[in-house]
Amino acid sequence: KEEVKMKGSDIQAKQKKYSLQSWSAQKNTAPIPVEKAEGMYFWDFEGNRYSDMSSQLVNLNIGFGNKAVNQAIKDQVDQYCFLSPAYAAESRANLAEKVISVMPDNISKVFFTNGGSDANENAVKIARMFSGKFKVFSRYRSYHGSSFGAGNLTGEPRRYALEPGAPGFIKFFDPYIYREAIEFTSEADATAYYLTKLKEQIIYEGANNVAAIVLETITGSNGVIIPPAGYLPGVRAICDEFGILMICDEVMTGWGRTGKIFGFENFDVKPDIITFAKGVTCGYVPIGGVAVSKEIADYFDDNYLSCGLTYSGHPLACAAGLATINFYQEAKILDNVNAVGKVLAETLEKLKEKHACVGDVRYIGLFSAIELVKSKESKEALVPYGKDPEGVMPKILGMLKAKKFMTYFHENMLIVAPPLIITAAQLTEEMEKMDEVLTQVDQTFL
Ligand code: PLP
Repeated sequence: KEEVKMKGSDIQAKQKKYSLQSWSAQKNTAPIPVEKAEGMYFWDFEGNRYSDMSSQLVNLNIGFGNKAVNQAIKDQVDQYCFLSPAYAAESRANLAEKVISVMPDNISKVFFTNGGSDANENAVKIARMFSGKFKVFSRYRSYHGSSFGAGNLTGEPRRYALEPGAPGFIKFFDPYIYREAIEFTSEADATAYYLTKLKEQIIYEGANNVAAIVLETITGSNGVIIPPAGYLPGVRAICDEFGILMICDEVMTGWGRTGKIFGFENFDVKPDIITFAKGVTCGYVPIGGVAVSKEIADYFDDNYLSCGLTYSGHPLACAAGLATINFYQEAKILDNVNAVGKVLAETLEKLKEKHACVGDVRYIGLFSAIELVKSKESKEALVPYGKDPEGVMPKILGMLKAKKFMTYFHENMLIVAPPLIITAAQLTEEMEKMDEVLTQVDQTFL
């Protein structure tokens, strides 16, 4: 039987007709039909090549078409695709061991989930069961997922759809120094300010009621907000003082993105619970996890772990995860992130100097944001928070797309987070396109 190949436009139309697209009014969506993909590039059905400068959703760290990971998945298919979490599967056992081997020495066991949102939900459940307390602190400028529990942790507007939220979820402010009303004289000064405020808030909430503080180690989709020196160790000290668990959400920052395997390694802290997803398999097959300290793991030796998911530790995903982590290690991916990250840092600083529309650039490893403003002096955001009636940011994304530079924005910030396999030459080629677009922004919107 002869196969009739669908046209790209038919695929787009069919997908739009029968499926709901995330985070959008459906009328406005135009998902690009992708015919093939390799490394950091993908092609539409007209043969146009696009550069993936956001690693899809900051998950496709190894790029498309990694042969070792593909092979590991095929091999697992041949053994079996699925086995209930109640049975022991080789790929599940191997991935668990591998994950623990790259975690800090206080972490001893992992509970596998389907992705990042349910990793965070289960982390909160575990913290509540272990501590017997119920309040959970997380930050306003944060995204921890969109399902009901994780959505309650999320601080930014993507949580509004599930309000009124669950009780016991308390928000505090992140150390977003660029937009703080106070002028700090040093990072230490800023750290002291934010930690004092956090501690005060905990005391007012009743320190004895607080089970956990949940933080994206580096705030990701809300604009790559990097904490000042001493901040995370300070949060750790507050947690220790009040017997609160420190949960680091490493869903976006984990698996090499920042130049270390996990983001918190940049700040010399050891969390009690670490959640991860995205880069552990890069989405070749989805999986997430909650890694817990030995103390917490031991607690569940005799106490009932009230957590479970049909697909917890899915064998296909575990096989993909093991191959992905092996690839990171064999390809010395951290060396690449640090070397190319340096080029990214230098390029971003130059763009900030050159363009009136660039208020701030924030970067670590291959994780960065460009914050666009109307004026460097006043720091007035290019689009006001939560409002963009003229569609300025989508227009800027359109300018990048015209050059086949694909990424996404959040509020007035452009995210640049390419696959960790990108070379310095590829990065330079792409950032020239960004430079040209920022010139257009200077001319069009200021
Ligand atoms: N946590 C962080 C920091 C994230 O960036 C995301 C997704 O972008 C999530 C959690 C949610 O993960 P998932 O979409 O896999 O449920």
